[in-house]
Amino acid sequence: MIWLKNVKTIAQMYKEGLLQAPRQARVKRAPKVELLERISLFQGDITKLRVDAIVNAANKSLLGGGGVDGAIHAAAGPKLLSECRELNGCLTGQSKITRGYDLPAAHVIHTVGPVYSFDSSSGAEAKAEQLASCYKTSLQLALENSLKSIAFPCVSTGIYGYPIEDATHIALGVARDFAESEEGSKLERIIFTIWTQRDKGVYEDLLPLYFPPVVEEEPSDEPTAEAAATPET
Ligand code: ADP
Repeated sequence: MIWLKNVKTIAQMYKEGLLQAPRQARVKRAPKVELLERISLFQGDITKLRVDAIVNAANKSLLGGGGVDGAIHAAAGPKLLSECRELNGCLTGQSKITRGYDLPAAHVIHTVGPVYSFDSSSGAEAKAEQLASCYKTSLQLALENSLKSIAFPCVSTGIYGYPIEDATHIALGVARDFAESEEGSKLERIIFTIWTQRDKGVYEDLLPLYFPPVVEEEPSDEPTAEAAATPET
């Protein structure tokens, strides 16, 4: 079991050099020091986290499946499936909450991500909206239930095939907007859980664009106008 206090915040990760400040041109949002204490990047098994809610990348039936869904049901025990049976499924882009049963997490928020493929009837934009909605509705449910900590897996990016970079921009953008909204400020920790090395690399690259560190201005390699104008002696 992994306690929340043992999951590093990105403030700690920047301090320890585990995350790097991005180049200014790539930054998507302004630095906000307070947010750095409320976001985590955790590589490992989401079913081990002792948080108020873990998010399940479920399918529309909510009756279990492979990937993280299978792992969550296996760790939570059969009572989770019993509660899920009473929910009558869930639409794509929507989320429903249950108890966590044998999991260390108190609750599971089941969200249904879009199935991604280029030649499907709804386009990439519709899928992006559905994926954003997964994150938004999960965060909203956490608030409605007065939960303070929530851990997400990389929804839709496994069996459902959503490109990890695109999906990560969506996840981070929604989380940033939510974390700094007035209602969202009640949420104390949002954890992005990654499982594979590939996903770790993507999050390490993109997370600093949405949650940049507050850093002193670095000295530039370019000569200043004044220095450039001074003739060499
Ligand atoms: P989807 O069907 O939404 O694509 P998957 O379960 O196939 O869902 O994959 C979602 C993400 O969950 C993937 O990034 C996968 O690597 C990750 N994953 C699988 N098992 C675990 C686990 N035990 N803990 C955290 N993440 C996991």
